[in-house]
Amino acid sequence: MASPECAPVAKAGGLGDFVHGLGRELSIRGNHVEIVLPKYDTLRFDRIGGMHKVYRDLWVPFYDKAIHCDVEYGEVDGLNCFFIDAHSEHGFFNRGKIYGDADDADRFAFFSRAAMEFLYKSGRRPDIIHCNDWHTGLMPVLLYEIYAGLGMGHSRACYSLHNMGHQGWVAPHVLRMNRLDVGRLMVPERLQAPGNPAEVNLMKGGIVFSNFVTTVSPRYAWEIQHTEQGMGLQGLLKVHDRKFGGVLNGIDYNTWNPEIDPHLPANYGPDSLPAKAKCKAALRARTGLTDVFKPVVAVVSRLDRQKGVELIRHGIYYALAQGCQFVLLGSAPEPAVNADFWQIKHEMDASPDCHLELGYDEDLAHLIYAGADMILIPSVYEPCGLTQMIAMKYGCVPIARRVGGLADTVFDANYSDRPFEHRNGYVFDDYTYAGMEGALGRAIGLWKRFPEYFRQLRVNGMRQDHSWNGPGQHYLDIYNHIRA
Ligand code: ADP
Repeated sequence: MASPECAPVAKAGGLGDFVHGLGRELSIRGNHVEIVLPKYDTLRFDRIGGMHKVYRDLWVPFYDKAIHCDVEYGEVDGLNCFFIDAHSEHGFFNRGKIYGDADDADRFAFFSRAAMEFLYKSGRRPDIIHCNDWHTGLMPVLLYEIYAGLGMGHSRACYSLHNMGHQGWVAPHVLRMNRLDVGRLMVPERLQAPGNPAEVNLMKGGIVFSNFVTTVSPRYAWEIQHTEQGMGLQGLLKVHDRKFGGVLNGIDYNTWNPEIDPHLPANYGPDSLPAKAKCKAALRARTGLTDVFKPVVAVVSRLDRQKGVELIRHGIYYALAQGCQFVLLGSAPEPAVNADFWQIKHEMDASPDCHLELGYDEDLAHLIYAGADMILIPSVYEPCGLTQMIAMKYGCVPIARRVGGLADTVFDANYSDRPFEHRNGYVFDDYTYAGMEGALGRAIGLWKRFPEYFRQLRVNGMRQDHSWNGPGQHYLDIYNHIRA
């Protein structure tokens, strides 16, 4: 597997969890899994065991020169991880962050080449090379155009789309950088960006050149083929329909399980739900909320526009007005959004019922899922969404917009056509204040007036199986299909 992220050592969001969770599931089933990652300066080195150099002097082609790299190996939660360490004045992976620089496309185009060169030079001939998102979209292209001819012809490429909002639109120099044939590739049926013939679309490269393409939920698979959620690649995904499908992500129940979670003051499960109250008390103590008879509504999210920041902001005021407490944990990459939430945080400074924690905090995230009663997920679009699955495991009821993977996993207490034991939350369709208030208002009303029914919703969510077991088998079926 090749990826820009792998939890917990390099995680910005769900992609990190995906690589970690699927990698572990495949390993447990007896497959030999190796993960290739950039050696960022921000890696959580404390979570990597036995880091050491395993390949010296990997010279990676770069225009008409080559960049000197080493490859280090370390174990992450039992996973074999290989980290590409690039020595050049570009400092490709020494930026103090994973994403967010103007030359991101160059950084990851280089990483794609380095990963392929490492496989080739170190004699690895994997059955499957599983690439993820635009950052590694060039790998299937490089496999087909260059490395298959060098003896890697039997390796097959599987490519997973985690977010169509980021496709790696860039000038064709990234192809020249990798000594790929610009004339051959800059055509509509290969890497040329739809709507902008002067640009390369790296994600498109991954889709066209891989043997199978997946995305992270069946509903998102449909949305990106049939609606504007495809962000310009709808047509292409229809053309490649026969090698495309949605597989709902799992979550790692070793990391996300209130029965064994070491971050919690008390462990609990569906049969020992009263112990969750201790987690609620600890969450209040940690976030400075008073101990009163009120539900705690939470948000744990990147504060990206995709996540519905307008409705998150409105949700804070609405929930407080309805007699709830509110805890938000979020990090905003966009300065304007960041400033907006800092202003709300200052406004709420003295409030005994509201706490905003602006940043990334893995430990606090665990305590919030365990301590909160409801979680608000009003996404504009959501390829899969792990937050709702994690929250449900912790008996925290999701209030979610019915899009993408949220539509595949959250079933409305009142309006779902599913049997009662499958109903686990509240959903709404319209991306409006009224839409969200309708669902959140119903949830709050139930908490206040019908606690026993609310408890049953929690238990329904906790009893659902969102482990990697099912998706792991599904990916193995796909791998076997393309190997055949
Ligand atoms: P995305 O990948 O779009 O960010 P997902 O719902 O798929 O969204 O995954 C989000 C993951 O990141 C979850 O594991 C969630 O707990 C975690 N997360 C999001 N924001 C934060 C934060 N500020 N601090 C800690 N964990 C966070």
